[in-house]
Formats: sequence, structure tokens, C-alpha cells
Amino acid sequence: METIQTNRLDRGFFRYQKEFEDKALKVLRSGWYILGKEVSAFEEEYAAFTGSKHCVGVASGLDALILAFRALGIGEGDEVIVQANTYIASVMGITINGATPVFVEPDGFYQADADLIEERITDRTRAVLVVHLYGQAAGMDRITDICRRHGLKLVEDCAQSHGAGFRGRMSGTFGDIGCFSFYPSKNIGAFGDAGCIVTDDEGIAGRIRVLRNYGSEKRYHNEVVGMNSRLDEIQAGLLRVRLKHAKELNSEKQALAERYDREIDNPLLTLPKKRESCDHIYHQYVIRCKKRDELRKYLEEQGIMTIIHYPIPPHLSEAYGYLGYGKGSFPVTESYADTVLSIPMYNGLTDEEQSRVIDCLNRFGRS
Ligand SMILES: *Cc1c(COP(=O)(O)O)cnc(C)c1O
Repeated sequence: METIQTNRLDRGFFRYQKEFEDKALKVLRSGWYILGKEVSAFEEEYAAFTGSKHCVGVASGLDALILAFRALGIGEGDEVIVQANTYIASVMGITINGATPVFVEPDGFYQADADLIEERITDRTRAVLVVHLYGQAAGMDRITDICRRHGLKLVEDCAQSHGAGFRGRMSGTFGDIGCFSFYPSKNIGAFGDAGCIVTDDEGIAGRIRVLRNYGSEKRYHNEVVGMNSRLDEIQAGLLRVRLKHAKELNSEKQALAERYDREIDNPLLTLPKKRESCDHIYHQYVIRCKKRDELRKYLEEQGIMTIIHYPIPPHLSEAYGYLGYGKGSFPVTESYADTVLSIPMYNGLTDEEQSRVIDCLNRFGRS
């Protein structure tokens, strides 16, 4: 039997093969490869998709985060509150600017526990970074309220939440800046690295436009020390194709998730919970199991691959040893790291494949 992989990016390509190939050829033949018409058109279309005034394409999701904090003037001596159970890039976006991450534990939806944010605010806190982890938008009412009352900036890490909203409003539009990654496996994925920021603030959009291009607006006039973090024409063109189909791609994943919700009935497994008013686009379908490692091995023996998002929380990573946290600092986060498992959830997963995954999960520990 064929192995079921954790993702099949080829299927995402072949579904719209002709459109992708036509676009790639068009860009190749145009003779214009960096910051051109495709990038501008994509920025306009993506801003409209999220309901933001401005979108600025950059080279990756990490760069979007780095540039966001930079544009807000957050750096050395400043603190940014972020959930402890996130991908390490969220934290690097903060620390590369010299600022300090202050971690909060997640709630049962894998999002920052809003009840804990306020306790972590000090006179050095400048911002909250919300991560809409796994594709579920966080409950933004309480978080925006906390930021407003304390005069904090709000940045959203939307690398996993393209098109996921809260009460009908898109993730990325609640705070000062929304940061997106278009890494190939994301719900809207490029064919290489790519990212963007969205914002309603013209000043912020302008600063990031300058920062992404060596700190220059006018060629060879450099106002500040910037980066080379441009979105290229081919990726932007291919992203425009993907964006056109984003709704149907997200709906397909939601339908897969509904079937998992309905048909997985093994009491040893905890399924993802949906919070009212928060859309979930299932970047990942993450279950929990006390015998996670055993389960993972069992599935692998049956030809079903899984992945752990994420086995080592940032505060326990070598990179952040200097922050001085140890095991036990964030017990909820650490218990998630020991029990979460992402099962196959991707566009193009067939009915038969999904049936195999479900049967296998339901048999685990019962035979
Ligand atoms: C993928 C991801 C990023 C980083 O995006 P890249 O494009 O890979 O740099 C940041 N945050 C989260 C939550 C992610 O999942």
C-alpha cells in the first residue's frame, strides 16, 4: 500500500498546472523579475482578500515579522508578549530586533490564553504578538481590548491563518500589522519562499517598503539600513493563481476536518476544538494523545506519516537558552509539545486515504 505522506505539494500544483505554467512562462518571458507588475498586482489583490488597505510583499514570513517590529520601532529593552507554544520564527521576529519575548501559556484552542496576557505586562511591554496557530483565528475581542487599554501595539502572526477570520473579520486586520508566510506548505503557498505584511497604516506600509529594499525608496538613495527582502515576480505571479483559488482550497480542508471530527471516535485521542466565531482553516489538523510517540509509530507502521508541531517549544530550544528558562517553566506548552500530533491534512488528500487514516486512528490501542 502506498504511504500517505504528511503533505503532497505536487497535488496542489497539478490541480492548477496549466494556470501555474502559463504564469511562470509569462514572467520568464517578460524580462522583469524583481518588484514589478506581478508584485504590485498581488499586493493589491491580497490587501483586498484580507480587507486591509495596504499589503507589502517580502521574502518570507520571518522577514515579515522582523520588518513589522522594526517598522514599529520595537527593539532593545522592549518586551513583546507571545504565546509559548508557537513556531520558533514568531519568537525570532522579536529577538532579531533585540527585543525580549515574554511567554504566555496557551488555552485549550492552542492560542494565547487571554486571561494570562495582562499579568505579563510590565512597564517595558510594547506589543503583543498573536499567533493564529494551526489555522484557527484567535478570539480577538479580548486581546484587542487589552492592547487598547494598555497602549500596546498588536502584531498578528498569520503564517497559518490565510483567510481565517474572527466574527467575519480577517486575521491580520485586528492589530497594527498582520504578517503572512507563503512557504509552500501554508494554506496559500508559493513555490519557494515568500511572505507579506498587511496594514491599514500608510506610514507603516511605506516604512516596510523602504526597509525591504535596502532602506531606499529612490534608487541609490538610502535613508536607513534596510534589508534585501523583496518578493520576486515569479512567486508573486504564482501566488496570484493560488489566491484566486484560496476559498475553494480552504473549504476543501474544512471538509476534510469535518470528516475527521465526525469519524474519529477513539477515546485515547483529543480532537481540535473550535471556538465560537473563530474560523478555522485547518493549516494543520492537530490531535493530542498521551501515548503520542506510540501512536506515531503505530501509524507509521501502517504507512501513515505524521508530524509534530512542535516537539521543542522555543523557551526550551538551544537558541533561547540565554533567556534562562528550564523544563517546567511553561507546563501547558510543554505538555502540548509531548502530546500533539498533526495527521495528514492537505489539498488533494483522497477519500480512500482519509478512510485509511481514520480506521487506523480508531484501531489504535483497541486491538
Ligand atoms: C511558517 C511560519 C512562520 C515563518 O514563515 P517562513 O516563511 O517560513 O519564514 C512564522 N510563524 C509561523 C507560526 C509559521 O507557521
